[in-house]
Amino acid sequence: MKLIIFGPPGSGKGTQASILAKKNKIPHLSTGDILRSKLEEGDDLGQELSKIMSVGNLVPDSIINPIVADKLLSNDCKNGFILDGYPRNKNQSEFLIDFLKKNNLDIDLIIDFIADTTTVKKRIMERSRIENRSDDNLEVIKTRLDKYFAETQPLAVMFKEKFKDKFFEINATQEITKIQYDIENKLKNA
Ligand code: ADP
Repeated sequence: MKLIIFGPPGSGKGTQASILAKKNKIPHLSTGDILRSKLEEGDDLGQELSKIMSVGNLVPDSIINPIVADKLLSNDCKNGFILDGYPRNKNQSEFLIDFLKKNNLDIDLIIDFIADTTTVKKRIMERSRIENRSDDNLEVIKTRLDKYFAETQPLAVMFKEKFKDKFFEINATQEITKIQYDIENKLKNA
C-alpha cells in the first residue's frame, strides 16, 4: 500500500499516518521526523537544518529530494509506505512524480487533511506544551501555515486533478477515531 498525505501543520496527519503504518506494517515516512533526527546529530548538516527549521522555512530541495528517494528505494519500503510532509513545493512534486514513474511505483491513495487555521493553531499550541518542539511557537506556526497555503496546497489541487478517484479529502477537524474510520473505509475500496 502506497499512500501520500497532504495537510497543514497540526491537521493530525502524523497521528493518522502512524496508526495506519502500524496496522498495515508499512513505514511512516515523515520528512519532518527524518529531518529532526538529522538535526539532532548536531554535525554541519544538523546545524544548517536547525537554522532553517527553527524559523519554519523549508529545507532546500537538494537536501530533501535525495533523502526521500533513498528511503523509497530501501528494503523497508518494498511493501509500501506512507509519505507524510512530502512533497511540499512544486520542485519536490515534479521530482516525486518523475521518480515514481521511473521506478514503476503506483500510488494507491492520496489523502488530503482539510482543517481551518483556527483549529490547527490551537492544536499546535497544545502540542508545543507537551512535546516542546522548538518550531511550535505562534510566529513560527504562522510562517509554516503561510508556506503550506502558498506552496503546498496548490499541489494538492494538482494531485487531485491528476489522480482523480485516488484522491480523498478528509475532514480533519473530526475526532481521531472518526477520521481513522473514514480512511479505512476509503482504503477498502482503493
Ligand atoms: P509541520 O507539518 O507540522 O509543520 P513537519 O514535522 O512536517 O511539521 O516539518 C517540520 C519542518 O521540517 C518544516 O517546517 C520544514 O522546515 C522541514 N520539512 C519537513 N518536510 C519538508 C519538505 N518536504 N521540504 C522541506 N522542508 C521540510
